[in-house]
This record gives sequence, C-alpha cells and structure tokens, in this order.
Amino acid sequence: MYIDRYAVIGNPIAHSKSPFIHTHFAEQTGQAMEYERLLAPLDGFFDAVTAFRREGGRGFNVTVPFKLEAYAICDERSPRAELAGAVNTLLFRNDGSIYGDNTDGVGLVSDLAFHGVTPRDRRVLILGAGGAVRGVLAPLLQTQPMELVIANRSPEKAIELAHTFADMGLVHGCGYETLNGHAFDLIINGTSASLGGELPPLPEDVLSPGGIAYDMAYGKDETPFQHWARAHGAAQALDGLGMLVEQAAESFQLWRGLRPDTRPVRESLNALR
Ligand code: NDP
Repeated sequence: MYIDRYAVIGNPIAHSKSPFIHTHFAEQTGQAMEYERLLAPLDGFFDAVTAFRREGGRGFNVTVPFKLEAYAICDERSPRAELAGAVNTLLFRNDGSIYGDNTDGVGLVSDLAFHGVTPRDRRVLILGAGGAVRGVLAPLLQTQPMELVIANRSPEKAIELAHTFADMGLVHGCGYETLNGHAFDLIINGTSASLGGELPPLPEDVLSPGGIAYDMAYGKDETPFQHWARAHGAAQALDGLGMLVEQAAESFQLWRGLRPDTRPVRESLNALR
C-alpha cells in the first residue's frame, strides 16, 4: 500500500514530539500516512526539502531555525503566514507549487481556549520579540484584548513589532524596565529564556492578583517562568505543550482535510512527562 509521507525538519530535531503527535492523529482518523524527523544541516535546508519531495514527501513542518527559510521557498502563503513573516507548515501541491502556512498562533489561541482562558478585554503582556511572538500576534490581537504590550530584552524589536501590527488593535512595544507599575491579567512568555533555565527580568507586581501565566516553552518539569508565576499568585501557570498539539492539529487539517481530536494526544503526552 502506498503511504503518504510527512516530516518535521529542523536542527536540532531529536527532541521533537511532532512524530508522536501526528502518528496518533493518523491512527485516530484512519489516515494512511507516516511522519518522520529530518535533521537538516544548518546550511542545507533547501537540499533537505528537495530530497524529501523527490522521495515522495507530501508536506512537512518546520522548526528552529528554518521558519524564515521556509517562508522564502513558498510559491503562495496563507494571510496569517504573510503577517507572521514565517512558515511552519508546508504542502506540496499536485501542480508542483509549494503552499505555506503558520499554525503557531492559532495553536496558542486554541490552547488558551482549551484551558478556559480568553484574552478578550484582558490586559495582555507578551514577553519576547522573536519568531514565535511574531507568529502569534495576529491571532492574539484578533481575540480583542483590551491592550497588548510586547516587552523584549532588546526593546527596539518589540517597538518595531508593535508598529507592524498597530492596525490590528491597541499594541505597544517596550523594554522590561517600562513595565514597572503596570499589571497584566495574562502574561505569555514567548522568549527562549526558559530553554536556558532563565527568567526574563520581570517586576514583582507585574501579574495581576489571580492572573494567568503561559509559557510557550515546555519540558518535563515546570519552567522557571511557571515557577515564578505560581510564587506570584497566578491562578493558572500553563506551558506550551498544548500549543504544540493544537498547531499540529491545524497542520494535519491542512494536509488531510480532517480535524483530529486533540484531547487523547494531550493526555498521552502528559502521561509521558
Ligand atoms: P527566537 O530565537 O526567535 O527569539 C528568542 C526571544 O527570546 C528573543 O526575543 C530574545 O530577546 C528573547 N530571549 C532569549 N533569552 C532571553 C533571556 N534570558 N531573557 C529575556 N529574553 C530572552 O526564538 P523563538 O521565538 O522561535 O522561540 C521562543 C520560544 O517559544 C522558545 O522557548 C520555543 O521553544 C517556544 N515555541 C513554542 C512553540 C510551541 O508550539 N509550544 C512554537 C514555537 C516556539 P532578544 O531579541 O533581546 O535577543
């Protein structure tokens, strides 16, 4: 039997949970497909894509550090990928063209909804101004928060991002010191600080009493940001594993035209922690 092939391409890639997630989705929906990890050399993304396509690849996900290169190789992109300036899901079309999408933002908003968190009319703070934050800003602003503040270690990047998305809502960019004296209902950590066991320099009172904290990073243990949030009275301190599952479901739908149920995969991943 012919089996459609999909993959996640990145460097490093050994840690990726995407094959586990997509294999579950395929079993659940009865799709004949396989999904593998592909390590591309840092200067070899295009060659890896070409080889995968030649070997029968139908589509693939992209992770660090190739999301901008993935954007560049697409013939057509979804509006949300255009806004994000980065692509994490690609589809090889039958006419030979490549279509690109960015499902990170909808993954975050879906995961927040799964946990009963609605950014609408809330004061929202997002930390970081890298690729992940860029990808989630449009879907986040579409939920209509009261205000959205982007704080970054290099403030100019946050200010530039705020300008780029200014016509979608009330959005400001700043450095961490500007946060003194301000409190937020929802704080989303979109920095890579957690990966190095670090915490962005947050003022003590920046989380409103009973506010919600969300770290896009995830791991076996609670991240430093989740730990900080619990110590500062957070009602919920969530990590990004659910975002990973939800963005995968969105990619799966683009490739297969079916929406998998994410709950069983969430449960399996949580049991494996
Ligand atoms: P980038 O490298 O593009 O950006 C990193 C950002 O983190 C920059 O804004 C950088 O600031 C900031 N930063 C790094 N170290 C620190 C620190 N010690 N203190 C304060 N700020 C710091 O990374 P990405 O945007 O691609 O990824 C960010 C995070 O999001 C990662 O943890 C990644 O795993 C996670 N992610 C999770 C996903 C999911 O599905 N759950 C999907 C995509 C990403 P500066 O600009 O000043 O250098």
